[in-house]
Amino acid sequence: MPVLEKARALIARPSVTPEDAGCLDLIASWLIPLGFHIERMDAGGVSNLWARHGTTGRVICFAGHTDVVPTGPLEQWTSPPFDPTVRDGYLYGRGAADMKSSIAACVVAMERLINRRGLANAASAEFSLALLLTSDEEGDAVDGTVRVVEALRARNEAIDYCIVGEPTCVSRLGDTMKNGRRGSLSASLTIKGVQGHVAYPQLAKNPVHLAAPALGELAATTWDTGNEHFPPTSFQISNAHAGTGAGNVVPGSFEIMFNFRFSTASTVEGLQSRVHALLDRHQLDYEIRWTLGAKPFLTQRGDLCAALTDAVATEVGIAVEPSTTGGTSDGRFIADICTQLVEFGPINASIHKIDECIAVADLEPLARIYEHTFDRLMTN
Ligand SMILES: [Zn+2]
Repeated sequence: MPVLEKARALIARPSVTPEDAGCLDLIASWLIPLGFHIERMDAGGVSNLWARHGTTGRVICFAGHTDVVPTGPLEQWTSPPFDPTVRDGYLYGRGAADMKSSIAACVVAMERLINRRGLANAASAEFSLALLLTSDEEGDAVDGTVRVVEALRARNEAIDYCIVGEPTCVSRLGDTMKNGRRGSLSASLTIKGVQGHVAYPQLAKNPVHLAAPALGELAATTWDTGNEHFPPTSFQISNAHAGTGAGNVVPGSFEIMFNFRFSTASTVEGLQSRVHALLDRHQLDYEIRWTLGAKPFLTQRGDLCAALTDAVATEVGIAVEPSTTGGTSDGRFIADICTQLVEFGPINASIHKIDECIAVADLEPLARIYEHTFDRLMTN
């Protein structure tokens, strides 16, 4: 079982973010004999790889990450996290589901496709295959995928179709793909008051009292009602802090952090100006610092969604559901240079947990789904 062997070889490398632990070199050693041209685009201590088979035609890309999240307490693992172990039909190890098995499945899928179609690196080819891999997805994501995307954009190299191999399925392999992700917009808000003695409030100005009605209104606001692809935009306060720790002091300032997970039904500027208008209406003296974590993206129905839907139906016999829920992913960066992008990979129930695992029986079907999807795109 080639997918299992490759997945084991990757899991055995302890690549906790931003370490790559030799994963990309190993993957390159699998790709070079297939005719891939390998470019390392390492930046700021992060290992990045861009591999391309063919120089012309539309680019069909697989994107992913070799890094994994920390293991947590080793003694709680049934078998060591970097000693890949098959037990009761499951392959256990950190990265088994997120997302070393997806990378293994993709390499096997591309190998089979190249051999079966006799794909050569001809200058007249209608399609190229590519892989975009990084060791910094789970961390800051500052020097990872975004750096490769910048380099590709600088030389006008576009990606036509991209599958990101993140674990998207919920209870059965094939049940869910992500065809979009919400954006993430954060703010640090400081409400200013005047510090004083609680017994002499006329000499102080309590920023908590001043801010409370505005915060209530922010929390109760309907920012949008979503659209056919996205749930409504959500607003959440994540941190609130005021006070010196003493019980007899009116605090001088009140610091609040909040976050929007927003859909394509809202814009960054629209949300920002509504927040400013609300705070102004409450006549608050404030400072606000905004951070745009990710813009939302959406892949409308097209060749790629159709190819993946067909692949899942053929290989595992179920209808794949499009979804835009969950956190952000590196898809947000690639969407800048790629019009059709979906995320599809194994069941995500165990990711980031102790005893992370994937069903061994899902490994070969995952490779066949990827191969079928690439093949179908080439046939269109
Ligand atoms: Zn992941």
